Amino acid sequence: MENAFSALPLPEEQLANLDSLGYKQMTPIQARTLPLALAGKDLVAQAKTGSGKTAAFGLPLLNKINPRDFGAQALVLCPTRELATQVAGEIRRLARYRQNIKVVVLCGGQSIGPQIGSLEHGAHIVVGTPGRIQDHLRKKTLSIARVNTLVLDEADRMLEMGFVDDIEQIIGHTPDSRQTLLFSATYPDDILALSARFQNDPDRVTVESLH
Ligand code: ADP
Ligand code: MG
Repeated sequence: MENAFSALPLPEEQLANLDSLGYKQMTPIQARTLPLALAGKDLVAQAKTGSGKTAAFGLPLLNKINPRDFGAQALVLCPTRELATQVAGEIRRLARYRQNIKVVVLCGGQSIGPQIGSLEHGAHIVVGTPGRIQDHLRKKTLSIARVNTLVLDEADRMLEMGFVDDIEQIIGHTPDSRQTLLFSATYPDDILALSARFQNDPDRVTVESLH
């Protein structure tokens, strides 16, 4: 089959899980990004809404999660609570074949107490909005010092919403050795500047069509 997931270095259990989710083949953005992202490359990727970008970063970040290590190992920044919730749902579906991988959503507009409670129980993957992630970093209720994958999802929208300082400060708390995956619908200068500052020789992938 064209663009079969089985061509990727993914565990058999993940291939079966993708099949059970009805993912019969990679979407164009997945076919272009997954081989690079699974090999550890930094990426700047552009594709329309609905093109399957979440799995394009979700599969690579999941591959690196060690369930026995309870610190945050992946951080996904999203512009809004709604998007963060959707991304977390998709990552949980992609993680269904693995036991004990915890995904925690940290967004504003929700009380912070239960979020702190979830973090205390150990979160392997954190998905959230920059403002609330910063709140947790200031309170020291979240450590991202051992994050090995950082995703900036809908990066252009986050910058439009004025999150640039928050994003830069958050990145400053992550290790330089991290993999950084940046997804954006457009490429204004501020996105290129962010990429140049925080990514390591990124590959740039653009897909125009949806299917
Ligand atoms: P984007 O972030 O590009 O807007 P999403 O990651 O939210 O797109 O995916 C859009 C929809 O497509 C979701 O319902 C997702 O489950 C589904 N999807 C993603 N990849 C595939 C695939 N390879 N085959 C079928 N459906 C897919
Ligand atoms: Mg998306």
